Amino acid sequence: MEKQQEAARPTSKGPKRQRRPRRKHNKNSGNETKANAPATTEKDSGELWSIDQFQVAPAEGKSRFHDFNIPDRVLKSIQEMGFEYCSEIQAATLPATLEGYDLIGQAQTGTGKTAAFLIAMISDFLDYPADADRPNNFPRGLIIAPTRELALQIADEADKLTKNTNLNVVSLVGGMSYDKQRSQLETEYVDLVVATPGRLLDFARNKKVMLNKVECVVLDEADRMLSMGFIPDVKSIIRMTPHKERRQTMLFSATFPKDIQALARQWTYYPKEVSVVPKETTNKNIDQVIYTVEAEQKWPVLKTLIEGNDGQRTIIFANRRDETRDLYEKLKGANINCAILSGEVTQDKRVKTLARFKDGSIQVLVATDVAGRGIHVDNIELVVNYTLPEDPEDYVHRIGRTGRGGEMGKSVSFATENDAFIIPEIEATIGASIRCEYMIEQK
Ligand code: AMP
Repeated sequence: MEKQQEAARPTSKGPKRQRRPRRKHNKNSGNETKANAPATTEKDSGELWSIDQFQVAPAEGKSRFHDFNIPDRVLKSIQEMGFEYCSEIQAATLPATLEGYDLIGQAQTGTGKTAAFLIAMISDFLDYPADADRPNNFPRGLIIAPTRELALQIADEADKLTKNTNLNVVSLVGGMSYDKQRSQLETEYVDLVVATPGRLLDFARNKKVMLNKVECVVLDEADRMLSMGFIPDVKSIIRMTPHKERRQTMLFSATFPKDIQALARQWTYYPKEVSVVPKETTNKNIDQVIYTVEAEQKWPVLKTLIEGNDGQRTIIFANRRDETRDLYEKLKGANINCAILSGEVTQDKRVKTLARFKDGSIQVLVATDVAGRGIHVDNIELVVNYTLPEDPEDYVHRIGRTGRGGEMGKSVSFATENDAFIIPEIEATIGASIRCEYMIEQK
């Protein structure tokens, strides 16, 4: 088995790894031949669909998914997801990643990076079906993310992109039922695993999941894994996968501190490097304001702000769990429709809360950075920094929840004499100065 794996991904001593050649997908015929597709990994649901049904007019400066060598069954899912043109990171990475090259990508949430790496991985797996005798707990693709929320969002996108295939996606994340995940590993064909580091390592050490046949590894939000202390776990996981010359590795990070640069070099093989400067840092669609207040003014000012904002969908960030709890109690006391999203809330509850926030049945979400990171909810009208974050990058992530997709958004940050010192650093990070309104005299 191991030999076959090596044969499928020949290695080279030269600067470029020799990739297996990509199948050419005939964009005129619609349906593809499935001669080399074993029953375990392919589905016929693409049969009645043809690329002719996915008409997207060429547009200057934009790439269409049609323009790349992507199997029809993936294109069909892309169409069903409502995507037409590639985002910048997709257009910049797909030519290399579809050819099997490694990637170091600088991009953050909101750029479309998830679909970028998933489309490359899924296309490759469809073109090169797994050995028919592969045991079911040997995944082909491994995606590691720092938080459960992010992992579940990636899994959700992977489910959508594999909908017209027989590729199966399994999430191995902490804080959710261990037994259910173990039983999936025992009973299902596991093609793609989306995982948080701790839970994955647990399963891998117990040999419930075997990583030595992984063909493609994605490390998402590597900088966050570093700041959350996950790097030792990730190192142990990477050591269980095939050597970097025999796997494809894609690493994404919003920032590249020295440690991440070193790990990226260590884990990838002659990678392509792509950087998409986050639009969020210079997002003109966000009206940013700082309210300079005394500590005791924060709550009354916030209450007035929320009560006067016509039920706008709002996220309030605080730095610590006890702060979120305290705020949540105060908001409830003021009859404001709210919920809490912090690390101390059970995973099940967090998923449900997010769904209720998305469907509009909750107006205000109180969150910490970890819980709030990577949330995809469109049309958030207001982001409040009840406490300024300690890391300026968190400010960028927080306010990036609003003003998306061309909509206007607003962010209000409270600054007191205890934390105002961070403002210049934030302004340097976003490359702009933020309007300040002094509330102190209103006391
Ligand atoms: P991400 O940066 O991967 O977290 O993606 C942000 C959001 O953009 C997600 O809701 C995706 O489903 C969506 N998205 C990704 N690619 C595209 C695209 N090409 N066109 C439209 N929406 C997209």
